Amino acid sequence: MVALYSMINDSVHIKRRGLMLVLSSPSGAGKTSISRRLLELNPDLRLSISMTTRPQRPGETEGKDYFFVSDEEFKRHCDGGSFLEYARVFDHFYGTPRQPVEETLSQGNDILFDIDWQGTQSLSQSARGDLVTIFILPPSWQELERRLQSRAQDTKNIVQKRMAKARNEMSHWAEYDYVLINDDLDTTVHHVHSILTAERLKRSRQVDLDAFVKLLKP
Ligand code: 5GP
Repeated sequence: MVALYSMINDSVHIKRRGLMLVLSSPSGAGKTSISRRLLELNPDLRLSISMTTRPQRPGETEGKDYFFVSDEEFKRHCDGGSFLEYARVFDHFYGTPRQPVEETLSQGNDILFDIDWQGTQSLSQSARGDLVTIFILPPSWQELERRLQSRAQDTKNIVQKRMAKARNEMSHWAEYDYVLINDDLDTTVHHVHSILTAERLKRSRQVDLDAFVKLLKP
């Protein structure tokens, strides 16, 4: 008989399919810090590492932050169907490799995506049942501007472009399941973690719950 559930540290774990947790926000709203903290809190949560044609920034690691590739290599992956979704963001291409996502979900693990609204729209067309989407808003326009300007990594020209794009990005907040205002990092991380916990416990995701309840009969 197939195991319906497993015992880990004396507690019952119902088998389930993994979920896809999407975090989107304009640049500077704190998404990267939130993602890092969430991954620390959830050792079972995987991060989807995107492929991009954008140049590597100081402090970024190949294969950890992104897979940095040339335009030609990106196009090859695109033509070969390697991406679950891809989009042009600012002046570069970004894509989500398909295989690690499918493997993670089928193993019952959850996967976190740091992608923009275009990627979220594409995923929602193909993976509605597995998808949970969160949009992070900055506390104010002035604060977003301050955060972007304090990033030494981007040139003034890029900061101005990102400010312009942020307005467009923010217009998509209503397409998301959850919208959080990142006024305080600890509070926002707590809220994202709570959303993940609640979504993991949804009845529709506990695939063998029915069989488990039958086994509980005296
Ligand atoms: P950055 O260059 O600042 O790392 O990212 C720029 C934007 O591209 C961010 O909004 C980020 O969420 C988005 N992004 C990163 N990877 C992907 C991806 O694989 N697909 C899509 N659609 N957007 C991505």
